[in-house]
Amino acid sequence: MTTAGRHEVAEGLGALEYAALWKGITTAIWDRLDPLEQQIEDEERIPYETVLPILRDCGAFGLLVPREYGGSGLSIAQYLPIIAEFAKIQGGIRVLVHVHNSFAHALSEIGDQRQRTEILPGAATGEKSVAFALTEPDHGTGADLGTTARDTGTGYEINGRKWLITNSDLASHFLVFAKTAPREVSALLVERNAPGLTIEPLPETMGCKGGQHGLLTFANVVVPSTALVGAEGDGQAHLERALEISRVFIAASSLGTSQRAFDLSLAHARSRVTFGKPIAHRQAVQRYLAEMATDIYALRGMLADAAAKWDAGARIPAESSMCKQFGLEAVGRVTDRALLVHGGIGYTRKLPIERLYRDARLNWLEEGPPTVQYLVTARELLNGYEFDGLYESATSGK
Ligand SMILES: Cc1cc2nc3c(=O)[nH]c(=O)nc-3n(C[C@H](O)[C@H](O)[C@H](O)COP(=O)(O)OP(=O)(O)OC[C@H]3O[C@@H](n4cnc5c(N)ncnc54)[C@H](O)[C@@H]3O)c2cc1C
Repeated sequence: MTTAGRHEVAEGLGALEYAALWKGITTAIWDRLDPLEQQIEDEERIPYETVLPILRDCGAFGLLVPREYGGSGLSIAQYLPIIAEFAKIQGGIRVLVHVHNSFAHALSEIGDQRQRTEILPGAATGEKSVAFALTEPDHGTGADLGTTARDTGTGYEINGRKWLITNSDLASHFLVFAKTAPREVSALLVERNAPGLTIEPLPETMGCKGGQHGLLTFANVVVPSTALVGAEGDGQAHLERALEISRVFIAASSLGTSQRAFDLSLAHARSRVTFGKPIAHRQAVQRYLAEMATDIYALRGMLADAAAKWDAGARIPAESSMCKQFGLEAVGRVTDRALLVHGGIGYTRKLPIERLYRDARLNWLEEGPPTVQYLVTARELLNGYEFDGLYESATSGK
């Protein structure tokens, strides 16, 4: 049924182990990380000295690292509620956790045995981390990349610039996409201390504050041929594969942010009294709440479907872009209505509503803007990709 092939499936944790992991992670999120919100927003800096040990202790770095490398090896259905929970608190922390897990997962799928053995055990504990280096200041993505990797016979010489690269201050490795021939994109793993690589911070962001999304300059950076991920020219396929599931993770982040905005709005509507009644009694406010809940319910359903298909071994190229696109539209509407329900106080920093609104804007950009999601979805559908009934065929192994 699917035109996009199949993939290896993570076994996931048993129910008891997962329940223990969930408890540890949610306790860390609400008792230890959420209280850091004001500090991070004020200082525009994540206090890594505090945050990284908390993430390490609760197992947040190894969520998608296969168990044979020391991680939890979660299924996608198990991972989505966790990244959604992170998306309820300060967004810079969510982005850090997302990029770390997403590209550890990508490496476990596209890296060779040597690359996995070298990096994944460290990724499971947070000592190592792979950042994703695709976007460029001087070019577009995919076929338009300007960064080159010239074959030197014993390795590659990389030249070019990447920017907006999340975790650029933390990453031990960068998964760099570069042209190895005019029409050929390849993926290379570059260590952060490679001679010729300089990393500079960019100005602070609108939301999801505190992390670093830096500018990487590659000036004659020489890497061995073992840095190549897969074969020369595999870069475009690797890119699409990594982004396919990562777009679902972004949609789950949209879900978490929406749920938090809704929960706060429901509580506010019940407690805020005007003209002698809680505003929840007003039909106009009820409509906002009903619309918010409907968006959340629809997104949750899409994510459950996408996760079930992926966990059954199916590729989901159209569903992932549909989830990502619907998710950003949903979180846009929900955070907008949350501001309306809260009135003026929602616009101030007294409540997290204005932060959720700002943080959510990043969901438009991560793993590609809307135009890319429309393009991917339409391309798949026009190529005959079917999304109806896929779950049935995936689970029956056809
Ligand atoms: C906080 C943050 C973190 C990020 N982290 C990472 C990261 O870790 N790694 C990474 O590689 N990137 C990262 N990015 C970059 C992000 O993925 C891109 O910003 C996003 O994909 C848009 O690409 P661009 O900035 O090059 O925009 P542009 O490509 O310049 O696009 C600008 C506008 O033009 C439209 N457009 C451009 N080309 C076309 C076309 N051919 N057809 C139709 N419309 C088009 C776009 O849809 C958009 O509306 C991050 C960005 C931010 C803000």
